Amino acid sequence: MERINDTLNKWANGGQFQERYNRLSEQVLHDPHIAHFLKENSSKISEEMLNKSMGKLYEYSTQSKECANCPSLDGCINMMQGYHPHLVLRGNYIDINYDRCPRKEHADEKKKHEKLIQSLYVPKEILSASIADFDFSSDDRVAALEKATEFVEKYTPGSKMKGLYLYGKFGVGKTYLLGAIANGLARKRISSLLVYVPDFLREIKNSISDHTLGEKLEMVKKAPVLMLDDLGAETMSSWGRDEVFGPILQFRMLEDLPTFFSSNFDFNQMKNHLTVSQRGEIEEVKAARIMERIRYLAEPVLLDGLNRRR
Ligand code: ADP
Ligand code: MG
Repeated sequence: MERINDTLNKWANGGQFQERYNRLSEQVLHDPHIAHFLKENSSKISEEMLNKSMGKLYEYSTQSKECANCPSLDGCINMMQGYHPHLVLRGNYIDINYDRCPRKEHADEKKKHEKLIQSLYVPKEILSASIADFDFSSDDRVAALEKATEFVEKYTPGSKMKGLYLYGKFGVGKTYLLGAIANGLARKRISSLLVYVPDFLREIKNSISDHTLGEKLEMVKKAPVLMLDDLGAETMSSWGRDEVFGPILQFRMLEDLPTFFSSNFDFNQMKNHLTVSQRGEIEEVKAARIMERIRYLAEPVLLDGLNRRR
């Protein structure tokens, strides 16, 4: 980066200083932003002040304002990437303040937003899902979308609102819709935790040995909005059902914390899935207890349509 004073010195030493200085002043004074600033503050700016500030004004004229001369944030041409200049009066000279440019503000905002959606094992593409992109090619899709939109619009932290239990065939967009809800909530500064159940159970089992089980369970229990994706795709052991999911769902019921599910199974199939233990035992009462919690927490919504995965 070449400082303006260095440039001026070089020119001065190179001779023809006056001529170049005049040309520089002309460039400065023809800059519409500068002309506007000088006009607005004409009562406070003397000729002497103007001359003293010529270096600053030249620096200002070379910088992109409102991202007008930059192709992107990465391609920002300004001395400080992501910052654009504003002219200010400081005592008896004109100075420059650098503030975040619109693109940088937008990028920072986006980063903050992404932090609001924690995701355990959910594909990146889902994290950019948007309700606006959801296709409503059938009535039940419209209904699902309406319920999702209603939740995003109406939910406020601390209030009691049922989540959704999205069920339907593989590839119809259940995970996508959960991601879109999470994104909608993030815009309201509400943080969601998306958990892909089969991987979560595997991880939870492994964390028994490294003593992080309690911590992980706590995080899932207390997530402001929890989305349990693909429940039923795992091989649920009695332990997973009664020691992991049972307490998580119980806690969320008591605390009125919104909980969403997605599954290939409807409620009946889910009940069967939870009933048969890996050892082949039929554990109806325990399964019924979990089903009761799921029903309490979420409204079943069928999502149909074509398989989008090819
Ligand atoms: P499911 O969870 O029901 O099995 P997914 O949500 O994973 O289905 O969707 C299957 C594929 O289709 C994914 O690659 C997903 O990104 C894509 N997809 C789903 N719905 C949409 C949509 N409305 N717009 C664009 N892509 C979508
Ligand atoms: Mg899915």
